[in-house]
Amino acid sequence: MAQIDDLPPLREVIRRHGLDARKSLGQNFLLDLNLTARIARASGRLEGATVIEVGPGPGGLTRGLLAEGAKKVIAIEKDRRCMPALEEIAAAYPGRLEIIEDDALSVDMAALADGPTRIVANLPYNVATPLLTGWLEGPWPPFWDSLTLMFQKEVAERIVARTGDKAYGRLAILAGWRTHSEIVLNLPPQAFTPPPKVSSAVVQLVPRAEPLACDIKTLARVTAAAFGQRRKMLRAALKSLGGDTAALIENAGLMPTARAEEIPIEGFVALANALDGEGGQTPASSLSTSG
Ligand code: SAM
Repeated sequence: MAQIDDLPPLREVIRRHGLDARKSLGQNFLLDLNLTARIARASGRLEGATVIEVGPGPGGLTRGLLAEGAKKVIAIEKDRRCMPALEEIAAAYPGRLEIIEDDALSVDMAALADGPTRIVANLPYNVATPLLTGWLEGPWPPFWDSLTLMFQKEVAERIVARTGDKAYGRLAILAGWRTHSEIVLNLPPQAFTPPPKVSSAVVQLVPRAEPLACDIKTLARVTAAAFGQRRKMLRAALKSLGGDTAALIENAGLMPTARAEEIPIEGFVALANALDGEGGQTPASSLSTSG
């Protein structure tokens, strides 16, 4: 296999720095540098791009991103034990790796963006979904040009699910409303050290230039209500929103007998706009204390 850089193999890095994997930090490391370079390539054009990486750990993906030509990688890692290993990578790529020792959930990543910015990460499973929803719910257009993220396969499928799929739900609607998303790579548990219990997948999300107009909070409310009782027809499931449910559904141009999983994203956007009183039937203010 081709060597991607002159740094030592990751097994040696882990041994030398005592980086035994900790479950509490979601540490399942990728030690095959050809694989990490492949993930880096899947994230799109890296020349001239700033890459924000969450959870570099011993630096396998970091090295892939740098070897594949990222202008700069900003790596945010919570585990202090990884710092010396990351410093060695920074020394091998002068001026191209910035290391931030912090909890990614509390870092203002928009402030780190510099020119075309991509977010690439083998995410710690315990914070993967909150990080993703944070990136998807922020101001639009976003500060990032793409997200290339490793998830447990089941979560990846919930992100890319289409109308009618078993995995179609709140996450698919948020992701599909604001981005184009697809699974670009599937990985078995054995690709990681230690191997997790489940398979993983890399999802690529690219922002839509103009998502359909609606209030994001209202969209979240209607999808929560509809999928909170996904087996029920809309006329029953949406009762929890209060107000005149029949009028709301009619104003959105939907069938009261339809179920949440049959409604395309445009349908949920129409519901959100109807709930916000576009049709004058159900102003949000009258709903906030009811139901
Ligand atoms: N990128 C490395 C790789 O692919 O081998 C490690 C990936 S491992 C799945 C997740 C990494 O995220 C670990 O290094 C872990 O210490 C780090 N991590 C966990 N929680 C974090 C948090 N809240 N903020 C930043 N890093 C975190």
